[in-house]
Amino acid sequence: MEVALKVAIQYWFNLGKPEKNRFLTIRGGYHGDIFAAMSVCDPVNGMHHLFKAVLRQQFFADVPHVSFDAPWNGADIKSFADQLEAHHTEIAAAIFEPVVQGAGGMWFYHPEYVRQAKALCEQYDVLLILDEIATGFGRTGRMFACEYAGISPDILCLGKALTGGMLSLAATLTTRRVSQAFAQGEAGVLMHGPTFMANPLACAVAIESIAILEDSDWPGQVATIAHQLKTELEPCRSHPAVKDVRVLGAIGVVELHEPVDMAQIQPRLVEAGAWLRPFGRLVYTMPPYGIEPKELRVVTEAILRSLA
Ligand SMILES: *Cc1c(COP(=O)(O)O)cnc(C)c1O
Repeated sequence: MEVALKVAIQYWFNLGKPEKNRFLTIRGGYHGDIFAAMSVCDPVNGMHHLFKAVLRQQFFADVPHVSFDAPWNGADIKSFADQLEAHHTEIAAAIFEPVVQGAGGMWFYHPEYVRQAKALCEQYDVLLILDEIATGFGRTGRMFACEYAGISPDILCLGKALTGGMLSLAATLTTRRVSQAFAQGEAGVLMHGPTFMANPLACAVAIESIAILEDSDWPGQVATIAHQLKTELEPCRSHPAVKDVRVLGAIGVVELHEPVDMAQIQPRLVEAGAWLRPFGRLVYTMPPYGIEPKELRVVTEAILRSLA
């Protein structure tokens, strides 16, 4: 995330527009815990109150309300469009998680939002950064969640499943148009280079992990998991404490009306054989694609029993 934000700022610097150095994001997002990333996390659920004095003020659009499979409503993108119209001369890039807002609320919103956001960014000459750190590598049923919208960003952030979760590595990808602006810029390169950047061991693991993924039937596995999660989590819906049950790809979410009592629910889950980490009003699971149906059954049963 830090690299993506720096790329966007230095890109506009290279093009002689240093005033374009702020970001537009959508509420309910999560982009990590480092300073630059914190500034674009949700201002209420994020850590803004704690670090307010040192965080850059960014621009925020409303959370998309239209869910993934509901009929699209054009009013949903209005707040994003309004922010761009008012502030685009200061904005380097828009940044958000496409289709699935993860740690900010496990919310699945409409791909048309993503498609229109991309068109608006082009219209107002603002870069688009997509954070697919959680959604990348098949999790939502597509290799990348932005495929649901049929668009690709100017800058793409990957992490987590990049190494199959085995080593710490992230990747920041750009289009040629963005990278070429660096070759011609004053510095000639991106001004970023931590000691362990492109760590060879982590890169080797990432290459192998991607090869394993590509050799597997991940679309079939994810579809099978989605079907099982839908079937087996559905009974949760009738529980009075439950507000919503939703599944997209290999992500299953049970949203409650009230925040989960962690001290109460976690021992019950463990007792039922599953290690899950609920947060806020959410009990959720993102199982590995290789999970067996009977193993996934243990997880869904644990969720059901822990609610009871
Ligand atoms: C986990 C996560 C991050 C942060 O990644 P780190 O490697 O922990 O900094 C950013 N964005 C999303 C969507 C995430 O899920």
